Amino acid sequence: MKILSVNAGSSSLKFTAYEMPEEKVLISGAFERIGIGESFYTIKINGEKIKKEKEFASHKEAVATLIDELLENGVISSLEEIEGVGHRLVHGGEKYAESVVIDEDVVQTVSELSELAPLHNPANLIGVEAFKSEIPSALEVGCFDTAFHQTMRKKEFLYPVPYEWYEKYGVRKYGFHGMSHAYIAGRMAEILGKEDARVISCHIGNGASLCAIKDGKSVDTSMGFTPNAGLMMGTRSGDIDATLIPFIMGKTGKSLDEVINDLNKKSGYLGVSGISSDSRDIEEAVEKGNERAILSQEMYVERIVNYIAEYYLELGGADAIVFTAGVGENSASTRAQIIQCLEPLGIKLDEEKNQTRGKEALISTEDSKVQVYVIPTDEEVMIARDTYRFIQERTI
Ligand code: ADP
Repeated sequence: MKILSVNAGSSSLKFTAYEMPEEKVLISGAFERIGIGESFYTIKINGEKIKKEKEFASHKEAVATLIDELLENGVISSLEEIEGVGHRLVHGGEKYAESVVIDEDVVQTVSELSELAPLHNPANLIGVEAFKSEIPSALEVGCFDTAFHQTMRKKEFLYPVPYEWYEKYGVRKYGFHGMSHAYIAGRMAEILGKEDARVISCHIGNGASLCAIKDGKSVDTSMGFTPNAGLMMGTRSGDIDATLIPFIMGKTGKSLDEVINDLNKKSGYLGVSGISSDSRDIEEAVEKGNERAILSQEMYVERIVNYIAEYYLELGGADAIVFTAGVGENSASTRAQIIQCLEPLGIKLDEEKNQTRGKEALISTEDSKVQVYVIPTDEEVMIARDTYRFIQERTI
């Protein structure tokens, strides 16, 4: 059975086609700059990557080209072979604790939840509409970034603010990167051979969040009401004292939107170092002795360490700490700096095993009190699995 796993942004569309239940990737790729000119797409098939330039005025046009490519490359011989399309949907609010078959009600609810994710939910729905019109025979499934965290308890997800903010306006911690943390939870249950493992999942890419996992469920996570909470990230500040916002508005004459934009797009690694949001550039500058780069790296590491320590206690200890996403999978030096700070907990890094990149590895020493792993995340396969499950249930 062939299934598409899709992630639609406002001007982009990423896709992976799977043969299920084997989870074999048939083709993957991304359309970029849709509707804003100079659009192009890349496809990866049989280990080869191809880039093509073509103007796409809408996501619908991009989907039409995607279908042509699937046919031309022999991935499918007719449209009906694609039995399901799974969509990444960012915000499911308190309504969705699991993935869902997308019907009119779901579209309506996700649209209403746009006030909680104005940049993401409307774009995700454009993707839903485009596939609905181009592949009407496929079952469409929505997989939410927030769903995995719906198991958090009130004492973890509430902010200490007037209670009616939660009751009337839904102000609470939602958490994101749910499919990534859920993938890590599942993979670690397999690796450790137990369902009740206590795992600290560190998804550190351009966006970054930690998740405390027990019994395969999210107990706590570092992102909050929005993704700009918790850790310092590539361009996001993470946690700050909210009162600095009106202070900076007064000092600079910037509007609220401008300051919020600074906190989302001009902070983090970029803001502190003044160099880049990319940890590779920071690493290079650190090696050259650049002081602000060194400072930004120290701040980045310290925040991750603090959250790991917090979750270690929250979970009553830990069986494993896992590094995943762009920085977590690739940056041996960032991992080493983090683990070094965890020595008081008896956590020890095997320097040699840590020299790994982008593949599963145990990187702690044998006598380390907690095992430390690198596990490449796979949000796309989580979407494909849920979509496959719904199709199976429908046919039974
Ligand atoms: P996103 O949050 O956009 O999905 P990714 O998880 O792909 O991001 O992470 C992208 C980030 O990973 C890059 O901005 C970069 O900081 C970091 N990264 C990628 N490759 C490496 C590498 N080889 N060494 C260090 N950092 C890397």
